[in-house]
Amino acid sequence: PDDVLRVRNLSTRFFTEEGQINAVESVDFTVRDGEVFGIVGESGSGKSVAALSLIDLVDSPGRITSGEVWYRDADLADEFRDDLPEAVDGDFVDTRRLPEGVRRALRGPAFSMVFQDPMSSLNPSITVGEQIAEAVEVQRRARANPRSTRSRTQEYGMGRLIVDTLLPNRGYTSESSMNRAIELLEQVGIPDPAERAHEYPHQFSGGMLQRAMIAQALAGEPDVLIADEPTTALDVTIQAQILNLLRDLQEEQDTSVVMITHDLGVIARMCNRVGVMYAGQVVERGTLADVFESPVHPYTEGLIGSIPDLDDPDPRLQPIGGNVPSLLDEEMGGRCFFADRCPKAMSDCLQDIPEYAADEGCDDHAVRCVLAEREYSEADALPADYF
Ligand code: SF4
Ligand code: MG
Repeated sequence: PDDVLRVRNLSTRFFTEEGQINAVESVDFTVRDGEVFGIVGESGSGKSVAALSLIDLVDSPGRITSGEVWYRDADLADEFRDDLPEAVDGDFVDTRRLPEGVRRALRGPAFSMVFQDPMSSLNPSITVGEQIAEAVEVQRRARANPRSTRSRTQEYGMGRLIVDTLLPNRGYTSESSMNRAIELLEQVGIPDPAERAHEYPHQFSGGMLQRAMIAQALAGEPDVLIADEPTTALDVTIQAQILNLLRDLQEEQDTSVVMITHDLGVIARMCNRVGVMYAGQVVERGTLADVFESPVHPYTEGLIGSIPDLDDPDPRLQPIGGNVPSLLDEEMGGRCFFADRCPKAMSDCLQDIPEYAADEGCDDHAVRCVLAEREYSEADALPADYF
């Protein structure tokens, strides 16, 4: 399959009173048509911020400080080819370099996001149907005129995220967008959607709410659906139902899904390819088989090795000895971020941040580790202090 999204060298910083936090550090990965790409990591590894950065939802005190997010859209590429040639490469546009209004209009039809906690993303005083209808309406209007919608911000994780709404706010949904909302509710498996649409979030169970959130995220018919720990707040049976729903949607609509999770079981069940995040970096990425069966980065080895059985319905990440490093800029320095916990660390690991080294024989299997650099280049022997 073709690529739909190419993320290159993406970094996001938070500028806090405690100092600069490097939440996402030079991240590279590619998402292909109709695949589920997993991003797995412990909590605090920067997964959520990476997801928000893809879709340009990071708000202060966070800011994307470098990098490119190339999205395949032949029409957009043609539109900007002459005026903004640096933002166009073949059928791809670098969304980071597009005007703000255009970037905003991409949220919905290009990318949309399902959040961790449905309660924090739905307004308790507005019916579920109306909120989905509003999302439908925002999409329609944003497409016609990006200035007819506006953005507000809302608390999320360590910072705030941007939410697109109608201008003037609320209460302007049409009958046709409500009908579309009901269709969407039906599509995500809500029984009696025409009645349930008129209920408030507190009248929905956790699983039903997460379905409603997915319906809202589908309002713009996105090419890439980003799901941030979509099942973490749910009990195990409901988790399985939501994952099945996401996989069915991905298969039926050929949507690409970026699945963010700390749960290796979810990755093993859902994903075609995976990126492993540690301390803001994607330290290893590749197909599920390459990463899970032949991990190369010592962090991935530890992570996978900690799971007794991947077919276990509920495998948990076991902590690896030592602490996750602080992401404070002043404490990070130019060395492998995993060095303090790595059983294979050697002096070379402290010289510089390892670059991605790619295993040429594999499908985009790349690793940020000195050992991988050596192994893949073959030329250098392991250093004397390795053993
Ligand atoms: Fe371990 Fe060195 Fe590889 Fe970092 S670069 S993961 S410290 S071997
Ligand atoms: Mg998170």
